[in-house]
Amino acid sequence: MSESQFDVAIIGGGISGIGVAFAAIDRGLKVVIYEKNKLAQATSNNSLRIIHGGFRYLQNLSISRVVQSLKDQNFLLEKYPHLIKPLPCIMPLNDFGLKSPIPARMGTFIYRLIKKVCGANNLASPIVLHRSDLPQEIPIVKTLKNQYFLHWYDAVIRDIDSFHQELTEELKERGVTIKENSYINDLSKVCAKKVIDTRGPWLDFNSKNKHLVKAFNLVINTSIEKDYAIGIQSKNGNLYFLVPRDGATVFGTFYKNFSGNLEDLTLSEEEVTHAVKDLNNTVPNLNLKTSNILKKDIGILTAESIVDEKPKLYGQEEVFVENGIVKVLSTKYTTFLSQGRKAIKYIDNSHDSNKL
Ligand SMILES: Cc1cc2nc3c(=O)[nH]c(=O)nc-3n(C[C@H](O)[C@H](O)[C@H](O)COP(=O)(O)OP(=O)(O)OC[C@H]3O[C@@H](n4cnc5c(N)ncnc54)[C@H](O)[C@@H]3O)c2cc1C
Repeated sequence: MSESQFDVAIIGGGISGIGVAFAAIDRGLKVVIYEKNKLAQATSNNSLRIIHGGFRYLQNLSISRVVQSLKDQNFLLEKYPHLIKPLPCIMPLNDFGLKSPIPARMGTFIYRLIKKVCGANNLASPIVLHRSDLPQEIPIVKTLKNQYFLHWYDAVIRDIDSFHQELTEELKERGVTIKENSYINDLSKVCAKKVIDTRGPWLDFNSKNKHLVKAFNLVINTSIEKDYAIGIQSKNGNLYFLVPRDGATVFGTFYKNFSGNLEDLTLSEEEVTHAVKDLNNTVPNLNLKTSNILKKDIGILTAESIVDEKPKLYGQEEVFVENGIVKVLSTKYTTFLSQGRKAIKYIDNSHDSNKL
């Protein structure tokens, strides 16, 4: 097929590009993906791998984000049960404030209603538990002093390489042309009826703020909880998750402002030491050492602003048109399918470009 015969050219084969490709082939379009390296190896391969149900977005009353996350999570659990599994999660609650038992119970009530309306019934609803009712098999929680805990289910991608492989095979079977090792220098010269830019942190745009943020997780060589993910807030307000992964534990996510080279992501000794110190100050009896670190998963995200040196990430994905090119700015892996549909719909509705 000659390049000009493609309806849609997607630039950037991360999970966002993959999501757009699915939405485009669902509409019967001829699709090509250009990826400068291999598919889904950049930020998408370094995520914490949680497919969120969106309970936490109730804090900001982002109901549309809760609905979107719940629907996508439910769909992924149904379609890929061999790769995406339920993940029980526990988080201690404070005595007062937004993260205390009364607002949390109100949240669980509203969430249950939204779940019902969405028909998202693959996972049990969140509940508030007194410490005496906690499951026996989670010792770390017992070391915390809190009286009440939130217990909920998210989902987790057990084997991310196999998941990406399966998505790639499915795209190929459905006729998508995938061009790996294909760096696109000038998007305006790409031959296709429409161009969609899903270059993640490489995306350039001028109609919105763009601050790059290095986000990372540390993979530790010990199993702290076998089945449960634990969410704990540090003294300076950062929320960290401990997530079991193949006999190891992943801690994160840490965020740092970034202005370096996107092709060379590393962590300085100081960044690692600081992260380990913060975890030791947050999780009782952890005694983590830098020698426990097996691997560092590093990716780059885009923030809307930096407040008191802390990045404020974009709340939800942004899809917009600049110079006739649809641009997709992702904030979460979880919602790659609905984000893709939004991008394709944007082509239909855009006055800036001819409809396909
Ligand atoms: C540490 C960390 C933890 C996270 N945890 C979670 C989580 O648990 N759950 C969740 O839902 N989300 C999570 N996220 C967010 C999620 O990972 C991202 O939102 C998502 O992966 C972004 O995907 P993307 O496709 O937009 O970007 P990328 O994965 O970065 O893909 C962009 C692609 O474009 C390609 N590219 C760039 N320039 C060109 C060019 N000129 N020509 C051709 N190709 C090009 C790149 O090679 C790359 O493959 C996490 C993120 C990080 C960093």
